[in-house]
Parts: sequence; C-alpha cells; structure tokens
Amino acid sequence: MKYYVLDRGDQLSIDLSQQFHKLAAEKGFEMDSESPEIVISIGGDGTMLHAFHSFIDRIPEIAFVGVHTGHLGFYADWKAQDLPKLIEFMSGAGEGGLGPKIVKYPLLELEIERKSGTSVHTVLNEFAIKGAEATMVVQIDINDEVFEMFRGDGICVSTPSGSTAYNRGLGGAIMHPTLEALQIAEIASINNRVFRTLGSPLVLPKHHHCDIYSRKEQRLLLTMDHRYLAIDDLVSVRCRVSSHKISFARYRPFPFWNRVREAFLG
Ligand code: NAP
Ligand code: MN
Repeated sequence: MKYYVLDRGDQLSIDLSQQFHKLAAEKGFEMDSESPEIVISIGGDGTMLHAFHSFIDRIPEIAFVGVHTGHLGFYADWKAQDLPKLIEFMSGAGEGGLGPKIVKYPLLELEIERKSGTSVHTVLNEFAIKGAEATMVVQIDINDEVFEMFRGDGICVSTPSGSTAYNRGLGGAIMHPTLEALQIAEIASINNRVFRTLGSPLVLPKHHHCDIYSRKEQRLLLTMDHRYLAIDDLVSVRCRVSSHKISFARYRPFPFWNRVREAFLG
C-alpha cells in the first residue's frame, strides 16, 4: 500500500499526520509522494481541495480519505480519534478484510480561452467568474444556443459535491454528490426593465455544456476551488461535467444526508 499524507499545517493536523506515519510504518505501508494509491488529507475540506490539486495529474489512480481536525467536513469525514481504526481498515483488518468501498464523485471541466491561448482545468468544488473592477457583463450559452446576457457580480458553476460550499451561499440547491451534473448559480444579477436574467439556479446534466463569453473589455477574477486568477483578456469559458471522477475510499458508511444534517443543522 503506497500512501501520502497532506495536512493543513496547524499543530493538531501535523501531530496527526506524524501519528499516521508511525501507525502506517507498523503496518508496512510505504510513503510515496510521487505515485500514492491512497492520499490522506488531514485538516478540513479546504485541505482536500489542496490534496486534489496536488495530484491533479493522477486523479484516476488515487483514492482520497479526509480526516477533519476542526468541524465535520464534507470531504473530511473521519474524526481525529478514529485514526487507528482508519489504519486498521486500510490494512484490510476491519470488517472482514473487505477493503474500502470506492465512492466516485463527478468533477467540473473548464476550457478557458484567452487572447493568449487556451487552457483546460478540472475543479472539485467550483469555478466562479466575477467582475474585478466593475459589473461583469457576459453572455451565457447553453449547448451552443444563446441563453441570456448576464450583468452583475458574477456566476458560480459548481460540482455536485461543491454544492454545499460557495454554491449554497448563493442560494443554490444542495445536490447529492453522485449526480452527474453541474449547477450554475448567479452572484447578484442586475434585474430591472432593461436587464433580465433567469434568477434561479440551473442544473445541467452530463453531456450538456455551457459557455460564458466575456462581452466587454473587463478585468475578471476567475476562481477555481481555492485558487484565484485575475485576467483582462478572457474570451470564453466552457463548462462541462468532466470525464474523470474523484474517488474516495469509504471504510464505513456515512450517508451524505447525515453529513448535511450534522454540518448545517447540528
Ligand atoms: P476557506 O475560505 O478557508 O473555505 C471556506 C469554507 O468552505 C471553509 O469552511 C471550508 O471548510 C468550506 N468548504 C470547502 N469545500 C466545501 C464543501 N464542498 N462543502 C461544504 N463546505 C466546504 O477557503 P478554502 O479552504 O481555500 O476553500 C475554498 C472554497 O471556499 C471554495 O471552493 C468555495 O467553495 C468556498 N467559498 C465559499 C464562499 C461562500 O460560501 N460565500 C465564498 C468563497 C469561497 P473547511 O473549514 O473544512 O476547510
Ligand atoms: Mn485553503
């Protein structure tokens, strides 16, 4: 078993990752920063975003596990005190040695076209586009047909598992993370007699795509999960459900709706 551990950098998370290495060595696991089979993220959901992007080129070959050292997370759902149990499960000793159930969540693929060239990115939570200095003006097409002209602060396009993050703060719906879809939510659109947008969040299925075209000279802030990029030469962004998925190793059941209830209702 080749593994890698990524922690948030706070003392508790560092201590836990040391403890993990010790227990893992006893089981004969091999630390491998290049080609791990399992990546353990210790910290919060934000730490999982970092882990995901650290191994972005090897996503199909990795199973992720999240341990939280603060509040319960959506990607980080193992408690710190359960670490020994997690190692037992990982070594196949738990639950009759059945090994983990692999749960796969869809990702969002972005094709960003700038005057200087095109780049492709994959995100775990969401992509957001915002006006950096003024009201953003973009045209939104769905499946190559004009859908609407948008004026306002911005647009957030999230994955199903990202729907509990920024998307939720924008009034988007919480989606079960196994649904193969993407959700588009508005960020403070201007709606009056002249400008009109749909106003409600939209969910697109797999095999549909949406394009966001910049419709004025403007400086825009693009966010991809925890990363920010300010640019002034955007042509368009194509959003679609990625053909890749992220895998999580589940060693015991923790239904998504229970996580929603515990995280948001207490
Ligand atoms: P951050 O400011 O530390 O994270 C913001 C919060 O979002 C943290 O509490 C984080 O949980 C939580 N979070 C991350 N992914 C989540 C998910 N899938 N479901 C529910 N909560 C989630 O920044 P960061 O750690 O670099 O993370 C960047 C993320 O922050 C972005 O992807 C975006 O979703 C989110 N964000 C939210 C808002 C908003 O709600 N208004 C605004 C901007 C960005 P942990 O504490 O466990 O890490
Ligand atoms: Mn962060």
